[in-house]
Amino acid sequence: MSLLTLQKSNRILALEFSPRRKEEFSPEVYSARGMSTLPYTIIINPQMEILDYKKVVFPESCESVRGFSALVPRYEAVKLTGIDNKGESVVMQSRGWIARIIQHEMDHLEGKLFVDSMDPKSFQNDAWHRINVHQGRIQLQFYKK
Ligand SMILES: [Zn+2]
Repeated sequence: MSLLTLQKSNRILALEFSPRRKEEFSPEVYSARGMSTLPYTIIINPQMEILDYKKVVFPESCESVRGFSALVPRYEAVKLTGIDNKGESVVMQSRGWIARIIQHEMDHLEGKLFVDSMDPKSFQNDAWHRINVHQGRIQLQFYKK
């Protein structure tokens, strides 16, 4: 019997930060935010432990709040334990951007979005931000690439 069948209900995290995402950021931003790649990872019934209580603030967005972003403080390092997609116990320690992704997704499991922990003064419509940065000389596309 697998560990999964012992649970009445399961919580599932699907995580990924593919190498293709690197093209979206300048090398300076990629480095400053502590970004690194994370292959597609499934963690079932995840439990998160904070390893480094130092909070780091960076812009964050979410497909559930599409077109907006805000500064969100997150812990620098976390440990995730759970069960992988083969039913094996897994322990994952992460820092930087991957730790941020984990906290963001763990919040989703609790019904929270980044807007629940953002600096509200930094909340912005990303389309207007792009228009302002380009002083209005930009054509916005209203479809997903
Ligand atoms: Zn999200």
